[in-house]
Amino acid sequence: MSQSNPLSILNEYYGYDAFRGSQEEIIEHVIGGGDAFVLMPTGSGKSLCYQIPAMCREGVAIVVSPLIALMQDQISALEVMNIKAAAINSTMSAAEVSATSELARAGKLDMLYVAPERLLMPDFLRLLDQCNLALFAIDEAHCVSQWGHDFRPDYAALSLLADRFPQVPRIALTATADAPTRKDIVERLALKSGRTFVSGFDRPNIHYSIALRNSPRKQVWKFIQDKHPNDAGIIYCISRKKVEEMAAWLCEQGVDARPYHAGLSSEVRAENQRQFLQGEQVVMVATIAFGMGIDKPDVRFVVHMNIPKNIEAYYQETGRAGRDGLPSNALMIYGMEDAAMQRQWIDNSDAPMEQKQIQHQKLGALLGLCETANCRRQVLLNYFDDDCSPCNYCDNCEEPPETFDASIPAQKAISCVYRTGEMFGVSYLIDVLRGESNDRIANFRHDQISTYGIGTDLSKPEWQNIYRQLVASNLLAPTPEGHGGLQITDNGRIFLKEKPNLPMRHHQKTLTTERLKQSIGKRPASLASPTDQALYENLKSTRGEMAKTQKVPAYLIFHDKTLIELAVQKPSSLEAMLNINGIGETKLERYGKPLLDVIMRHDQSA
Ligand code: ADP
Ligand code: ZN
Repeated sequence: MSQSNPLSILNEYYGYDAFRGSQEEIIEHVIGGGDAFVLMPTGSGKSLCYQIPAMCREGVAIVVSPLIALMQDQISALEVMNIKAAAINSTMSAAEVSATSELARAGKLDMLYVAPERLLMPDFLRLLDQCNLALFAIDEAHCVSQWGHDFRPDYAALSLLADRFPQVPRIALTATADAPTRKDIVERLALKSGRTFVSGFDRPNIHYSIALRNSPRKQVWKFIQDKHPNDAGIIYCISRKKVEEMAAWLCEQGVDARPYHAGLSSEVRAENQRQFLQGEQVVMVATIAFGMGIDKPDVRFVVHMNIPKNIEAYYQETGRAGRDGLPSNALMIYGMEDAAMQRQWIDNSDAPMEQKQIQHQKLGALLGLCETANCRRQVLLNYFDDDCSPCNYCDNCEEPPETFDASIPAQKAISCVYRTGEMFGVSYLIDVLRGESNDRIANFRHDQISTYGIGTDLSKPEWQNIYRQLVASNLLAPTPEGHGGLQITDNGRIFLKEKPNLPMRHHQKTLTTERLKQSIGKRPASLASPTDQALYENLKSTRGEMAKTQKVPAYLIFHDKTLIELAVQKPSSLEAMLNINGIGETKLERYGKPLLDVIMRHDQSA
């Protein structure tokens, strides 16, 4: 198809009446043949920025996407709207590949999805030579850069597109990239002469909350019960074992929880993912193997049971909540041992030294986010060179942590590291500071040193807090051996010499359930009245039935947001339903009538 009017495509196929943010500008630019680098947060509508030009320009658009497993979801979403999309990948038979290739050659596809490793194969490049190409869209473009948090060598090789197809516009898109990563993407994909579109990074509908871990199950359970008893969400755990345990435990509590990790067979994984996508109340308990490219719009919460790798990963993972714009929660529960584990992973990886340093720096920034007394959103946005005023929608804004000048205890804590030879871990150091007597201390004769017993004024947890924040602010760092020992950094030595003020967050008595309750965002927007609420529930169940018979996820039919609008507006004809956001002509034809009937019945009974 080549239709020329982006707005009418938006209306007819997608059912939206206006473009958001810079969508329109990007679309016009690409339709005009320009290259573009697009940096927009998750859920802000990046896909339309290449899908609409794909429909407007002659020929087939090649969409490069990292995970084969998820292409089908994207294609299904397009097919529901009657847009012609297909994929070529390694799960297909030779006959299927050649049939799809033929469609592409014949100009019968708007979009062809492909993973980078496939795109680079000689056969595929030959196919491209035979097609009329509308554009290249490179999704998850941060994978191109070694500065990014998810570098993939196959992606880096995409630099050949510019040389081989100079006349075909390229649009690269990502939701997460810090400044060096952005620069690198633009260079590698030769987008310099194109335009860069960066829109605000904020996800205003996501509430951020970060708490120390005390009793993880209790903390999670309280959170689910209070905020999300009937919602879909993702819980990230650090290991396969933890995933299994948590999923089993939640099931015992009556939650429809499913595990997902690389150790499960691909059938089980696919089935659990399908349940999660199609269900409205399934909780996915997963390692980070899960989530890339998942664009289920009604994920209401994302929980991290441990710290993630870095801020990019955290923002991407939490960004999977609330793509539909409705209020959603991100909760992280962390302990100091998480940081030690992450550091060890970095050190034990076979990445080159330079990569390891980058990873350590990124981890440090994440710890800073955990320990900050400032607005979480501010810290997050600053990290991406974006800005905001205190948000009033995060735990620290809602209940500002108190700070105190920790200069003196910090000096004691660092001196103790120094006096014991920069090799011991936190619990030993605290024993020395607090003047405990045990065999180890006696053996090392650390009861003879000047820092022995100078810290009896603070409790063990208070000292732990101080050490944690000293690590977070990079005055102390783990020793390279990775046994949990601490050493003094250059900054730490400067601090010992200059002894400046050092504001620190008070020791958080690990969140009481009461505080947890207060510090987490409200339930998603409620409908104006109980009868609207009842109508909404009815619409949902009718949508559920249609989804079941057609074997597609409910949200592909209509988003919750669309149902809420229907319940509030109560349109009285199919025509009037077109005014509702998310209802275009194709979908109206396919799904409009049953929902209209529900509204009519409701009106009669009301
Ligand atoms: P991203 O890829 O940036 O994470 P998507 O392209 O998946 O975001 O879009 C997120 C959601 O917003 C989708 O449900 C999409 O249909 C919706 N959306 C996109 N553009 C608009 C628009 N102009 N008006 C209303 N909704 C939109
Ligand atoms: Zn805030």
